[in-house]
Amino acid sequence: MDQLSKLALEVTQQKSTEPAFSKNYFEFQKQNEKPYYCTVCTNLLFDANSKMKTKCGWPAFNEAVKDSTKQIIDNSHGMQRVEVVCSKCGAHLGHVFENEYGPGTRRYCINAVCLAWQEEDKIKRFE
Ligand SMILES: [Zn+2]
Repeated sequence: MDQLSKLALEVTQQKSTEPAFSKNYFEFQKQNEKPYYCTVCTNLLFDANSKMKTKCGWPAFNEAVKDSTKQIIDNSHGMQRVEVVCSKCGAHLGHVFENEYGPGTRRYCINAVCLAWQEEDKIKRFE
Protein backbone atom coordinates (compact mmCIF):
# COMPACT_ATOMS: atom_id res chain seq x y z
CA MET A 1 0.00 0.00 0.00
CA ASP A 2 1.12 3.59 -0.57
CA GLN A 3 2.27 5.79 2.26
CA LEU A 4 -0.32 7.64 4.29
CA SER A 5 -1.07 11.16 3.11
CA LYS A 6 -0.19 14.14 5.29
CA LEU A 7 -3.86 14.59 6.19
CA ALA A 8 -4.27 10.89 7.03
CA LEU A 9 -1.25 11.09 9.33
CA GLU A 10 -2.54 14.23 11.05
CA VAL A 11 -5.96 12.74 11.63
CA THR A 12 -5.03 9.18 12.61
CA GLN A 13 -1.92 10.00 14.65
CA GLN A 14 -2.62 13.50 16.00
CA LYS A 15 -6.41 13.35 16.35
CA SER A 16 -6.97 16.14 13.87
CA THR A 17 -10.28 16.41 11.98
CA GLU A 18 -10.60 16.65 8.22
CA PRO A 19 -12.73 19.54 6.93
CA ALA A 20 -16.44 18.74 6.59
CA PHE A 21 -17.61 17.96 3.04
CA SER A 22 -14.08 17.14 1.91
CA LYS A 23 -13.24 15.64 -1.46
CA ASN A 24 -12.80 12.32 0.33
CA TYR A 25 -16.26 12.57 1.84
CA PHE A 26 -17.83 12.90 -1.60
CA GLU A 27 -15.77 9.97 -2.85
CA PHE A 28 -17.04 8.00 0.14
CA GLN A 29 -20.64 8.92 -0.67
CA LYS A 30 -20.29 7.43 -4.14
CA GLN A 31 -19.42 4.01 -2.76
CA ASN A 32 -22.39 2.26 -1.33
CA GLU A 33 -21.75 -1.40 -0.98
CA LYS A 34 -18.28 -1.64 0.43
CA PRO A 35 -17.03 -2.49 3.89
CA TYR A 36 -14.47 -0.06 5.31
CA TYR A 37 -11.10 -0.82 6.82
CA CYS A 38 -8.67 1.14 8.99
CA THR A 39 -6.39 3.03 6.60
CA VAL A 40 -3.40 2.42 8.89
CA CYS A 41 -3.65 -1.31 9.66
CA THR A 42 -6.56 -2.59 7.46
CA ASN A 43 -8.59 -3.77 10.44
CA LEU A 44 -12.22 -4.22 9.26
CA LEU A 45 -14.19 -1.41 10.94
CA PHE A 46 -17.59 -0.87 9.33
CA ASP A 47 -19.90 -2.98 7.19
CA ALA A 48 -21.57 -1.33 4.22
CA ASN A 49 -25.03 -1.85 5.72
CA SER A 50 -24.18 0.25 8.79
CA LYS A 51 -23.66 3.36 6.66
CA MET A 52 -26.05 6.19 7.62
CA LYS A 53 -27.37 9.03 5.51
CA THR A 54 -26.59 12.28 7.31
CA LYS A 55 -25.89 15.85 6.33
CA CYS A 56 -22.99 16.43 8.71
CA GLY A 57 -20.22 16.25 6.08
CA TRP A 58 -18.37 13.23 7.44
CA PRO A 59 -18.97 9.52 6.90
CA ALA A 60 -21.50 8.19 9.41
CA PHE A 61 -22.28 4.65 10.57
CA ASN A 62 -24.78 3.36 13.11
CA GLU A 63 -22.67 0.42 14.13
CA ALA A 64 -19.02 -0.71 14.10
CA VAL A 65 -17.89 -4.27 13.50
CA LYS A 66 -17.74 -6.03 16.88
CA ASP A 67 -14.50 -5.35 18.79
CA SER A 68 -13.04 -3.36 15.89
CA THR A 69 -13.05 -0.01 17.69
CA LYS A 70 -12.48 1.35 21.18
CA GLN A 71 -14.10 4.35 22.78
CA ILE A 72 -12.23 6.91 24.86
CA ILE A 73 -13.65 9.91 26.74
CA ASP A 74 -12.35 13.08 25.06
CA ASN A 75 -12.51 16.36 27.00
CA SER A 76 -10.61 18.46 24.45
CA HIS A 77 -11.92 21.71 22.90
CA GLY A 78 -14.15 22.37 25.95
CA MET A 79 -16.53 19.55 25.05
CA GLN A 80 -17.10 16.11 26.40
CA ARG A 81 -17.13 13.70 23.51
CA VAL A 82 -16.41 10.04 23.00
CA GLU A 83 -13.47 9.41 20.72
CA VAL A 84 -13.40 6.30 18.52
CA VAL A 85 -10.09 4.62 17.78
CA CYS A 86 -9.10 1.47 15.91
CA SER A 87 -8.80 -1.34 18.45
CA LYS A 88 -5.90 -2.89 16.58
CA CYS A 89 -3.51 0.04 15.96
CA GLY A 90 -5.02 2.86 18.06
CA ALA A 91 -5.53 5.20 15.07
CA HIS A 92 -7.92 8.06 15.76
CA LEU A 93 -11.04 7.61 13.60
CA GLY A 94 -13.58 10.17 14.85
CA HIS A 95 -16.25 10.40 17.54
CA VAL A 96 -19.43 8.57 18.48
CA PHE A 97 -22.62 10.40 19.40
CA GLU A 98 -25.40 8.64 21.27
CA ASN A 99 -29.17 9.13 21.43
CA GLU A 100 -29.32 11.76 18.67
CA TYR A 101 -31.95 9.82 16.75
CA GLY A 102 -33.81 8.45 19.79
CA PRO A 103 -32.83 6.39 22.82
CA GLY A 104 -30.15 3.79 22.19
CA THR A 105 -29.15 5.15 18.76
CA ARG A 106 -25.57 5.80 17.80
CA ARG A 107 -23.76 7.74 15.12
CA TYR A 108 -20.14 7.01 14.44
CA CYS A 109 -18.85 10.23 12.89
CA ILE A 110 -15.69 9.16 11.09
CA ASN A 111 -13.07 11.00 9.07
CA ALA A 112 -13.13 9.67 5.49
CA VAL A 113 -9.36 9.87 5.39
CA CYS A 114 -9.18 7.19 8.14
CA LEU A 115 -11.03 4.67 5.97
CA ALA A 116 -9.85 2.29 3.26
CA TRP A 117 -11.77 -0.12 1.07
CA GLN A 118 -11.06 -3.09 -1.08
CA GLU A 119 -11.13 -3.01 -4.85
CA GLU A 120 -10.42 -6.30 -6.55
CA ASP A 121 -7.45 -7.56 -4.52
CA LYS A 122 -6.20 -4.18 -3.40
CA ILE A 123 -6.83 -2.07 -0.32
CA LYS A 124 -7.44 1.49 -1.51
CA ARG A 125 -7.26 4.71 0.45
CA PHE A 126 -8.75 8.13 0.29
CA GLU A 127 -6.13 10.81 -0.32
ZN1 LIG B 1 -5.98 0.38 12.68
